Parts: sequence; C-alpha cells; structure tokens
Amino acid sequence: EPVLYVIATPIGNLGDLSARAVSLLGEVDLIAAEDTRHTGRLLAYFNIKSTLISVHDHNEVARAEMIIDQLSQGKRVALVSDAGTPLISDPGYALVRRVREAGYQVSPVPGCCAFVAALSAAGLPSDRFMFIGFLPARRQARLKSLEELVGQSCTLVFYESTHRILDSLQDMIEVFGPAREAVVARELTKTFETFRQGALAELLAWMQADSNQQKGEFVVLVRGAEPVVPDDESVDPRSEAVLRLLADELP
Ligand code: SAM
Repeated sequence: EPVLYVIATPIGNLGDLSARAVSLLGEVDLIAAEDTRHTGRLLAYFNIKSTLISVHDHNEVARAEMIIDQLSQGKRVALVSDAGTPLISDPGYALVRRVREAGYQVSPVPGCCAFVAALSAAGLPSDRFMFIGFLPARRQARLKSLEELVGQSCTLVFYESTHRILDSLQDMIEVFGPAREAVVARELTKTFETFRQGALAELLAWMQADSNQQKGEFVVLVRGAEPVVPDDESVDPRSEAVLRLLADELP
C-alpha cells in the first residue's frame, strides 16, 4: 500500500532512532532526505541500503511530483531531515501538503524533536508554550519578532545556532528585560549536553565568560510574562465609562 512515512531521526545520540524507524527505513523503496550525505552516514551506521534522493527547500515542489509518481506505482517512501522531526524548522511541509492533496496516506514515525526534549527537562512551565523556532537573521526583524511576544504568558521556545546565540540573548534582554527567567538547553543527547537556568542577563554573562558554552546547538526557553493584575486605580477608563452608563440605566 503506498504511503509516505515522515520519520524522526536522532538529534545527536544515535541510540534514539526508534526500532520502528530502523525497520521502515530499511523497507521503503525510497528515502527522501534533506541532505543525502548526512542521512547516508546514519543509514550506513544501521546498515540500511535503501535508495536516497534529496528533498530540500529549493527542489521540494518538483520532488513532490516525482514522489507522487512513485506512490502512484504503489511504492512506499520515507521523508527524513538531517536531525529530529521533519517539518519542525526543517523542509517537508510542501511535500506533505502535496502528497495529501494527491490523496495518498501520510503517516508519522515520531521520535526526537529538540524543543520537546528541551521542554521536558528544562523545569519551566510546560502546560502552555509557543514554539517560535529560529528568529530572523537581521537584527531589526529579530527585535520586531521579539516585541510581538513580549506580553505572551506562555513559555516561549526558540531555536538558535552557534552563530547567533549571543546576539539573540542580547536582543531578548533588550525586549524582555534582563531579569526574565530563561533556560538554555545545549547539545541535547550529546556529550556536552548542558542545561542552564537563570535570568536572561545572567545567562548571557555566563556564556560570554566561557566560549565553550557558545558552541553547538541550542534551544532557548523563556518564561512567559507575568499576567498583569489590574489594581483599582488602573481600571481601564473605557470600562469605567461603560459601567457608569449601565449603572445609570439600572433601576
Ligand atoms: N527538526 C529538528 C527538530 O525536530 O528539533 C530541528 C532542526 S533545526 C534545522 C536545527 C536546530 O534545532 C538547531 O539550530 C537547534 O536550535 C535545534 N537542535 C537540534 N538538535 C539539537 C540538540 N541536540 N540540542 C539542542 N538543540 C538542538
């Protein structure tokens, strides 16, 4: 039966590839990978010999037609990205959308996802959170994105790379204030896995003081804004006017 499996791969520790992912990767007729060399190494480690083709942001639409053609011949196809869950700050959305539109089954094979791993161990509220992923590369656009989030009361979850981690923390301090609580989760499931909790300003100072802490891959989790409790003096003048009107009308 034709199906596109969306398969999560490890974010560091190869032991995290699920048993079902290993069997399906070996069984499918075709594996569509973000980077065939990268996935080639993963497949070699598990001694999997399935055919690989590349699917990335630049050829995804054309590749979708090719994959739909394979599915129409009854083939089974897998989609993987370099690390973690495809479509989560990774290519795949256009492909999944097209394959579903064409009427074929798309089935997830869940596993690693860096932000879920970070959230599960960071010790910040996890009941409500907002996944933002990567902030824009340009400073003005980054500040604007952060400003849109300043009043959010749920935990905010960001992805960051070694190149921009210091700049992003700096901008978070500027927008959220130096005292806002945050957690930096670095190199999850790898040798130098590190969690560090503190005020944004402390986290930046700690990272600036130790260049090793600036290396690798990061999830940054920022505690949501404290809900604003209005006191009597700060009642919205508009609601006060409405209340007065209502009071006048009441018998
Ligand atoms: N699809 C992936 C997932 O499911 O998490 C995310 C891919 S995105 C291109 C790569 C970013 O994910 C990194 O820059 C980092 O922010 C985060 N990330 C991936 N692996 C990580 C790890 N082992 N530790 C911390 N963050 C990681």
